[in-house]
Amino acid sequence: MDIRRRPLKSSRTARFSAASGVHSGTKASDALPLPLYLTNAVFFTLFFSVAYFLLHRWRDKILNSTPLHVLTLSELAAVCSLIASFIYLLGFFGIDFVQSFISRNELEASEVRGSIVLREEYPDRADIRCSDFSMDRPAIKPLCSVEDEDIVKSVVSGETPSYSLESKLGDCFKAAQIRREALQRLTSRSLDGLPLEGFDYDSILGQCCEMPVGYVQIPVGIAGPLLLNECEYSVPMATTEGCLVASTNRGCKAIYASGGATCVLLRDGMTRAPVLRFPSSKRAAELKFFLEDPLNFDSLSVVFNKSSRFARLLRIQCAIAGKNLYIRFSCSTGDAMGMNMVSKGVQNVLDFLQNDFPDMDVIGISGNFCSDKKPAAVNWIEGRGKSVVCESVIKGDVVAKVLKTTVPALVELNMLKNLTGSAIAGALGGFNAHAANIVSAVFIATGQDPAQNIESSHCITMMEAVNNGDDLHVSVTMPSIEVGTVGGGTQLASQSACLNLLGVKGASHEAPGANSRLLATIVAGAVLAGELSLMSAIAAGQLVKSHMKYNRSSKDIAKIGS
Ligand code: ADP
Repeated sequence: MDIRRRPLKSSRTARFSAASGVHSGTKASDALPLPLYLTNAVFFTLFFSVAYFLLHRWRDKILNSTPLHVLTLSELAAVCSLIASFIYLLGFFGIDFVQSFISRNELEASEVRGSIVLREEYPDRADIRCSDFSMDRPAIKPLCSVEDEDIVKSVVSGETPSYSLESKLGDCFKAAQIRREALQRLTSRSLDGLPLEGFDYDSILGQCCEMPVGYVQIPVGIAGPLLLNECEYSVPMATTEGCLVASTNRGCKAIYASGGATCVLLRDGMTRAPVLRFPSSKRAAELKFFLEDPLNFDSLSVVFNKSSRFARLLRIQCAIAGKNLYIRFSCSTGDAMGMNMVSKGVQNVLDFLQNDFPDMDVIGISGNFCSDKKPAAVNWIEGRGKSVVCESVIKGDVVAKVLKTTVPALVELNMLKNLTGSAIAGALGGFNAHAANIVSAVFIATGQDPAQNIESSHCITMMEAVNNGDDLHVSVTMPSIEVGTVGGGTQLASQSACLNLLGVKGASHEAPGANSRLLATIVAGAVLAGELSLMSAIAAGQLVKSHMKYNRSSKDIAKIGS
């Protein structure tokens, strides 16, 4: 049984069809022998001409003292025509006039009553939800109860702040539902298509996203198996870019057929750099020397490491600009990406230093020497998060059969594009073909911070002919991959499932940090595969062709749109 409400008619045509009893699904003109404007003209003419005729007749009767109720056949026909045309014109124009008196509030109230009636009509249908009611004005949707409706109205009026809904209602789903409804009414824009149900809003409260109104769906594809350090991984990639997963998959195939890739972790340290101001450059320099003195490192580490059982201070680097001091603290953070952890450690050290340097003014816990979510040479040169290098020797026949190109073509293209071309462009960490593509897709699938794609995608891709020029040595060196397997978005159900697929879900109990380090090597391995495949496509001149095939849908967009 169709429990959806029929849409209210809004156009004149629709109103006419309702008034004249024409089925709502057909256009009025479809049900009439003449086009609508001609029908209107006919009835208008009929109405005024018979009215004129009758008035004349009645005036003659009054003059001749003939009783008015005595009608001739022509007068009877005229009266019938007058009534018929009056009904028609009332049906067409009258409803518009009446509706203009119905206020918006009354409409909303009637919708609430309607939804309650529906609940009463279908008591056995517990699955009836607010979203089941569709109207042609998406900005006004009924909610499930009068109380809900009242809350929506108070959010719309500004009486209840939208951000307070979770704490006020104690129900995260309901809060998102009400906020969404209020938003639609305030903006008069529909959010149809943005799903609301099917998501655990409790899991993001106070951690991942404030003021939710739904969630965006991104498809997840699988590239692999990626044979890396003698283990196989199926790499989840969340993307809407056609070709990307297929291309990375082809790279994985080439690596697999050549015996796999090897990845080595070079360094692991998350950074945070506060900015401190002193009365003089001399005082700033004094703290710099104090912090860089190896004799002070142990005591500073003890203070720093109190922030977490996983935080371990590794290095302190200082830079001075006038009387301002920037201190770049680097620490290992276990399986967490570590921004929170390192920030807490830095705060501990600053509190400690305040005793000996009371004239130090902490301008900001982050002074951009860190450097988080911005392209910066410091990350490219010094590293941030996990620094890794990943390599593979791709056999010549695999280059020919799987990658459909040649070793010299790849080596030449890499030199002219990834090295020389990027140098000419003044690239910062961008000596690669599309590392960011793979990094972003894996980051989104596994719950990493997508904004850290900026420094995490720093990568130099090298290609060299080896074994007398028969085979290809390919490597990616990535100094700042910032990943974690605990905290942030990693604990959400879908992201957690993707981490589980890679065998790196949550904290490593055997060796804290092992999961996040392994994830960094997998990211690099996937980047290696992506670089190989895209570079081969460009070398073979296939790039445009394959994108036209996979990235440009052959579906009729006009039809989808309609
Ligand atoms: P981040 O610092 O990346 O923002 P969070 O602070 O959100 O991460 O998450 C780290 C939290 O997880 C800390 O409270 C930490 O104590 C806890 N934790 C549990 N196991 C581990 C582990 N193996 N490595 C790092 N943190 C862990």
